[in-house]
Amino acid sequence: MDNVKERKLSTKRRGHFQLTEEDIRELPKVLLHDHLDGGLRPETVIELARKNNVKLPYWDPLKLADWFYRGANRGSLKEYLEGFSITTSLMQTPEDLYRVAYEAIEDAKKDGIVYLETRFAPVFHTQKGLTYDQIVDSVLRGLKDASIKYGVNFGLIICAMRNMSPALSLEMAKLAVRYREQGVVGFDLAGDELGYPPKDHLEAFYYIQRNNFYITIHAGEAFGKESIWQALQYCGTHRIGHGIHLKDDIMVADDQIIEMGYLAQYVLDRRVPLEICLSSNIHTGAIPDLKYHPFPIFYKYGFRVTLNTDNRLMSSTTLTKEFSIAVKYYKLTLKDIEKLTINAMKSAFIHFPERLKIIYDIIKPGYIKFREKREKHNA
Ligand SMILES: [Zn+2]
Repeated sequence: MDNVKERKLSTKRRGHFQLTEEDIRELPKVLLHDHLDGGLRPETVIELARKNNVKLPYWDPLKLADWFYRGANRGSLKEYLEGFSITTSLMQTPEDLYRVAYEAIEDAKKDGIVYLETRFAPVFHTQKGLTYDQIVDSVLRGLKDASIKYGVNFGLIICAMRNMSPALSLEMAKLAVRYREQGVVGFDLAGDELGYPPKDHLEAFYYIQRNNFYITIHAGEAFGKESIWQALQYCGTHRIGHGIHLKDDIMVADDQIIEMGYLAQYVLDRRVPLEICLSSNIHTGAIPDLKYHPFPIFYKYGFRVTLNTDNRLMSSTTLTKEFSIAVKYYKLTLKDIEKLTINAMKSAFIHFPERLKIIYDIIKPGYIKFREKREKHNA
């Protein structure tokens, strides 16, 4: 009791208030890096597994959620991949793809997300003979129906896999462009970085560029800054997925940047958005501990950073949780959360007027409303 009183006093004295997870959930947020097959609800996994006769390690939602989470925790690549092989095996029919997409928007709504860019690799969804067009159609229908019902705006990103053939990547690039009027907003290259440089897939990226379309690439997650450089300067990416190894191009001492290489300078100058995923980086072992994460230094020096979930199921997270982590470990304030949200919206792949509309009609009024409510409450 005393502790609570003391905390209240000290927050008042500092002139700002402590943000709870509930507060953060209520705030309008934007999510740019989210994998559809990494975000299923444990209950949905169980229902779809029963329906499709897929074997699961556990049939209790809590135990199953914990199993997915443990798999994502470093050291167990086998279980991690097993997790995805289960989720993708449950997304093989139009109805099941529709359901997972629909629920992604439903969950986004519950999480206070006003714009969601979710992504997936159609190549993993052909086990029962669906064509790529049928796969993308089903996902888009689910996203659209839920978007109409819940008022969450969305964009879909088509992923190619870096360990698969460049010819297949080109096919995925063509698929993405073909659906640009139906809700696909960009193209991504995902998968294991080591040994699979993005420049192996140049034809796909050139196709996207020649069609004036949008690119994001998983780069600088597990592999060095070289991968980020290639993504930018060979492949013409507009955003970087993760990009944490950009820190290898920055010299830091006592939380100050002492020196920056040309690559980091370029990313900063050109306002290249970095899709940062805190929990995911810890779980995959890309970063050993939150105190070593470059996010706070990137943010402090004005890099265009955004916060994201990556795989909600495997990392047992939500965007609210990711922001809560940043509030707790890096002392983010309400103003910082608003700034990061606007950063993300500015970096989205939908058209400029649509982005502005969401910023000025939804995000900014949402933060104003939250502040007014707080002031009234504190008066
Ligand atoms: Zn990812």
